[in-house]
Amino acid sequence: MTNDNLQIAIDGPAASGKSTVARMVADRLNAFYLNTGEMYRTITWALMNKGITDFENDETLSDFLASSDLRYSLNDQDDLVLFLDDEVVDINEVRQPEVTANVSLVAKRPLIRQWMLERQRSCAKLGLLVAEGRDIGTVVFPNARWKLFVTATPMERARRRLAQSSEVEAGITLEELAKQIADRDRIDETREVSPLKPAEDSIIVDTTGLSIEEVLDKIAGIVK
Ligand code: C5P
Repeated sequence: MTNDNLQIAIDGPAASGKSTVARMVADRLNAFYLNTGEMYRTITWALMNKGITDFENDETLSDFLASSDLRYSLNDQDDLVLFLDDEVVDINEVRQPEVTANVSLVAKRPLIRQWMLERQRSCAKLGLLVAEGRDIGTVVFPNARWKLFVTATPMERARRRLAQSSEVEAGITLEELAKQIADRDRIDETREVSPLKPAEDSIIVDTTGLSIEEVLDKIAGIVK
């Protein structure tokens, strides 16, 4: 492995199980774990907190980004922790359904993506990195040593997300949740800048019907 490809890129659609997989792969390999979805969620949450909901206004976005600082730093356990303006980001807060409903609208803005890119790439200097998101293998780390595209059928993804009750609206049905997930995927797949898609050299990992152990075994066979 050369120094410029010390990354494992894990991309995939919403609720495909890639976070669980990415975290466990990082643990097994003693690598740093970078969750870029949480970066987009944090900026969305911060914009909403400031009452900014017109995500199409580049001037507003630009002013906001110029006065914001988002970065990963290592804590005492050598884990990457996300900071927004010197405060540790409350991950539960940014995973609330209200943020989920808006995050793709923010993430499709070219200005936002450009701003994120340098912050995500700067983590590469730490060493072996497992980075997950939507454009890691295509844009953020195109030279990554391994590229996985983790997916599952829409219904399976909706079922898995429903089981994470803290992240979904109370009383939502499986069908409603499947529609929300499909809507988010559609925005992510059709945006002009760095759309969600597998990199040409990525390996598709279909997790439908597999337990987490089976998924990990499958990945262990790929990432040696
Ligand atoms: O991974 P997660 O579902 O938390 O990501 C939330 C949203 O952040 C995605 O639906 C997508 O709009 C955006 N995202 C992105 N590029 C990434 C990671 C996440 O556009 N690399």
